[in-house]
Order: sequence, then structure tokens, then C-alpha cells
Amino acid sequence: MTDFLIIGQGLAGTLLAHFLQSDGYTVRIVDEYQVRASTRVAAGLINPVTGRRFVKSWRIDDLLPFARQTYRLLESQLGVALYHERPIYRALYSVEEENLWLERCADLQYRQYVSDEGLPESIAPYIHPPRGFGRVNGGAQVNIGTLVDAFRQRATAEGILEAAPFDFAQLQISEDAVRYGSLSARHIVFCEGRWGKTNPLFSELPLVGDKGEVLLVRLPAGVSLEAIIKHRVFVVPMGEDLYWVGSNYSSRYESDAPTEQGRGWLEENLRRSLRCSFEVLDHRAAVRPTVKDRRPLLGRHSEYGNVLIFNGLGTKGTSLGPFWARHFADFLGGKTELDAEVDVRRFG
Ligand SMILES: Cc1cc2nc3c(=O)[nH]c(=O)nc-3n(C[C@H](O)[C@H](O)[C@H](O)COP(=O)(O)OP(=O)(O)OC[C@H]3O[C@@H](n4cnc5c(N)ncnc54)[C@H](O)[C@@H]3O)c2cc1C
Repeated sequence: MTDFLIIGQGLAGTLLAHFLQSDGYTVRIVDEYQVRASTRVAAGLINPVTGRRFVKSWRIDDLLPFARQTYRLLESQLGVALYHERPIYRALYSVEEENLWLERCADLQYRQYVSDEGLPESIAPYIHPPRGFGRVNGGAQVNIGTLVDAFRQRATAEGILEAAPFDFAQLQISEDAVRYGSLSARHIVFCEGRWGKTNPLFSELPLVGDKGEVLLVRLPAGVSLEAIIKHRVFVVPMGEDLYWVGSNYSSRYESDAPTEQGRGWLEENLRRSLRCSFEVLDHRAAVRPTVKDRRPLLGRHSEYGNVLIFNGLGTKGTSLGPFWARHFADFLGGKTELDAEVDVRRFG
């Protein structure tokens, strides 16, 4: 009998499978391969200081070193490049913002993450100058799409991945096992990202979903932005002359497809930020698996102890994923209690 049947192999399912396998458990995965999975559209940024008030991301002091260590290990296991440490230059638009930034630079809690270094001379000519720039240190861009694709390839070769939609009609749950078609497992863990919203076993959980659209653009040869720029939109170097540009947020949307309106907004903001031409190569959209209280969703079904969920990575899956997947694997192995802040029981 398999130890864990995992439904969904985006970032959440991949990281959980990785830790469970490293702990010696057997794993089977069902994933239908959605091109609009959040993991395949995201830039994979880790940004330690965010928001209008420039605050440290929740638990970033613990999340960041563990994320770095995990992605580095996965790089060597899977033979792909994933983790790119890069500074983030954040535009400051007013005296108030500049003052707040300087305050953060003087704050001991923030000093490892922020500095008042301006934009490097190699980048400045290509940017319409705002009032100023602050530099965020310790940030990174992680190729999470590459990670799930490489992991999928390995799982397929190992014969542990079924590339198909999960069919709830085939699921039978008993006290000590679940059966899915011909497969028996001790536990089933749902890692369906935003599709978890329609999971009948966890329908009471407040998964919301925030849509985002992005562009992949090419900048003219000779223009090289070797840092991440946040100026109206994020501009993220992806290698060669290619850049990821994103993203807007929308909790109300009619479909998960890219829209002309979204593309127009991104192009307009990019034009207002960059002083060079750009060619749009791709325009994509996905829905982030966000939760009402902006915390991940980990835990057991209220009635069936062997039915579990790992979801709600929201807008910051790249930094949250490794730490909480490790925590969940420890919980599943009986090594720890679930942290109350992420436990689904917080919603009663
Ligand atoms: C535009 C955009 C930009 C983003 N930028 C960043 C960023 O810079 N930094 C950051 O940290 N985060 C970012 N995110 C968020 C990040 O992408 C998510 O937190 C993370 O990827 C979520 O991973 P997941 O595995 O939960 O969901 P997903 O990646 O959506 O994966 C869910 C998987 O489940 C499978 N699945 C679902 N239902 C079924 C079913 N019934 N049967 C079979 N398979 C099923 C799907 O095929 C899919 O593979 C961004 C998101 C978006 C949309």
C-alpha cells in the first residue's frame, strides 16, 4: 500500500512529495497538467520586504534560509538551475516613501534586507526615473515552473505519476486507507491550488483566488537589466534578452484566460517604466490560491483523519512552500503538531 496519494503537482504537491520521499515514504501523484497552474505563470520571486509600508514578509527570517537550502538541494537532485539571488530595486515615489525607506534602513530588524543604494549605472539609462530607488537584499527569483516540470519528468520515469484529472467518483475512504481506482493509500493529500475551491471535501475553507496576468517580453540586444526592478510593475530578468513582467491582481474575474484589458494595463505600465522598446512574446494568466486571512491551509479533514490538504500558498508560494511543506511532512510523520496559524482548524 502506498503511504501518500497526492492530488495536484504544482509547487505545493511537488515540495510535499519531495519531503515525504526524503523521509522514506512512498508517494503516488495524480496531476492533469494545467498550463494555467499558478506555478507555471509565476516569476517565482522571493521578496523579503513588501507592501506600501515596506514591511518584512511574514516569518521571512525563517522562510528565506530554508527556501534557499531546499531549492539548492533540488537543483542538484534534478540537474536544473532554479535559485537566482538578485537584488530588487524598488521605486520610491514621494518624500514620505523615501523617509520611510530610510527609517527601515536604520532599523536593526530590517538592515539585512534593505539599503539606500540607488540604481546601478548600468541599469539607470533604461529606466524612467521615479523620485528614487531603494534596494532590497536577499531577494531571489526561483524557476518554480522548471522545478515542477523537472520533478514531473522524474516522477513519470519512476512510474509514480498519473497524468489525468482526479475523479472524485472513484475515491473510497475508510478508517485506515483510501482507495482510488486500483490504488490503495494510507492517506490522500489534496494540493490542487486554486482548483481546491471546488473540492467537495474541503468546500467550507475560504480559498479565494486572485487572478494575475503577465507578459514575457524581449528587450533590445545590448539592454541588460541584471536586477529585478519594481517600478509600477515587476520586471524580472529570465535569461538572455527575456524578461517577465507582472502582475495585476483581480479577485473578480469571468475566466482565468488572459484579457486584452490585462495586456493593455501591463504594456502601459511597462512603457511608463522602461526607456527602451520591448517586444511582447507571450501573455499569460493564472489564479493564485489565496486565502481570506493570507495564511496557508494545512491540515486534516474534520471527519476523515486520512484525508488532508496542503494549499493556500497565495501570492508568496516560492518562499512559503519549502518551509510549510517540511512542516507538514513532519506533522504527517507524527513529529510535530501543526502550527495553529496555518492549521485549517482556525476556521472552525
Ligand atoms: C501572475 C502570478 C504571479 C505570481 N508571482 C509569484 C511570485 O513572484 N512569487 C511567489 O512566491 N509566488 C507567486 N505567485 C504565486 C505562486 O504561483 C503560488 O503560490 C504557487 O505556485 C501555488 O502552487 P500550488 O501548487 O498551490 O498551485 P498550482 O501551481 O496552481 O498547482 C495546482 C496543481 O494541481 C493540479 N490539479 C488541480 N486540480 C486537479 C485535479 N482535480 N486533478 C488533477 N490535477 C489537479 C493542477 O494541474 C496543478 O498542477 C504568482 C502567481 C500568479 C498567478
